[in-house]
Amino acid sequence: MRLYAFVIAIVLVLNAKGANRFDDFFADSTLRVDYLFGADAERVSVFLDKQVKMPGWAGRRNRLTELPYESSGLITMCDAATGDTIYRNSFSSLFREWLDTDERVGRARAFQNSFLLPLPKAETIINVELKDGRLSTIAHMSHHYVPDDVLIEQRGGTKAEHRYLHRGGSVDRAIDVAILSEGYTEAERDSFYVHAQTAADEILRYKPFCDHPENWNFVAVWVASQDSGVSVPRIGEWRNTSFSSHFSTFYSDRYLTTDRIFDVHDALVSVPYEHIIILANTEEYGGGGIYNSYMLTSSRHHTFKPVCVHEFGHSFGGLGDEYFYEGDLMEGSYPLDIEPWEPNITTLVDFDSKWKQLLPDDTPVPTLNKDAKKYPVGVYEGGGYSTKGVYRPADECRMRNNTYPEFCPVCVAALERLIEFYTR
Ligand SMILES: [Zn+2]
Repeated sequence: MRLYAFVIAIVLVLNAKGANRFDDFFADSTLRVDYLFGADAERVSVFLDKQVKMPGWAGRRNRLTELPYESSGLITMCDAATGDTIYRNSFSSLFREWLDTDERVGRARAFQNSFLLPLPKAETIINVELKDGRLSTIAHMSHHYVPDDVLIEQRGGTKAEHRYLHRGGSVDRAIDVAILSEGYTEAERDSFYVHAQTAADEILRYKPFCDHPENWNFVAVWVASQDSGVSVPRIGEWRNTSFSSHFSTFYSDRYLTTDRIFDVHDALVSVPYEHIIILANTEEYGGGGIYNSYMLTSSRHHTFKPVCVHEFGHSFGGLGDEYFYEGDLMEGSYPLDIEPWEPNITTLVDFDSKWKQLLPDDTPVPTLNKDAKKYPVGVYEGGGYSTKGVYRPADECRMRNNTYPEFCPVCVAALERLIEFYTR
């Protein structure tokens, strides 16, 4: 009995310590850090653009030094006095993708990136690390955050016009998703709110999101654009829009992105947010989703609903694409001799770290497509843009095509873990 009481006491102490940890180091505010990631023929570099303080902190308050995934970018905060790590997060970037394109050859270019961190109470060292496709470090940069630095701007006076579409819980307990308008003129305001509601409802219709409505907040944030629609370089159409988004990113016609990341975050000042959805007011087909950065999709195309959920699978869930076809521009994106970091594709180099525990014992590896009904979870060859050497967990999934109505069981399990990571 005495031992039992002792164990209880230890657990209470650990819980109390865990609960206090956020308050020990951080204020209930946000430090936004803006960087330029750049490269020329010789080197890859990270430069600090600015630091901005904003009211409130919408991110996680537990598991602060754990990573959701070991992806291609890492940001770490260390207490300057002790050197102890006090917060970490991982991300991907458009810059990282650009490094592998032909566009890079003979050109030096920089990309904007912004990250939200809990505002430290004391002097802190912030380290940014970028990795290549083999997850080897290619650049890192450290800088200090000093609380009384008068050149760190405090923002948040004026609230952007916004409307809650779904309110599942308080900001400190739920995952806060902001949905931004892009390419909607003042006259198209109502239409944006309808599209934003459609996006939120569609995401919340899917497993595992629908199992946890209390863990989600969706807020639509209105920004009027000068022009209606977004830029379509393929047909020579350029529009003046709030976030300068365009198709044909890296000359891929359907790849819709924005590189004006600072403008995106400027539009969200004073609205609690962790994840960003940008709705582009266009009938052109396309989209893009970058893990822990943002996603963009066409709100007037007939595939709006499934593409929106697919891109959210990238930007929130860190899921990889499960599709592949002969001659894909992206074929070869994943080196076959290392395990990719995305939870839903494997090269079988370290399959134990993926969905092996979800496979029934008699499952053949690889699993043949003709046996898809027998093995809802298997190891199907083809995925991550490659027909050979990269495997996916199921024949069909929201991360593979626009017609299948759900995520495969492995994607559902990965998303479930992530929701738990952010909210428990
Ligand atoms: Zn899947």
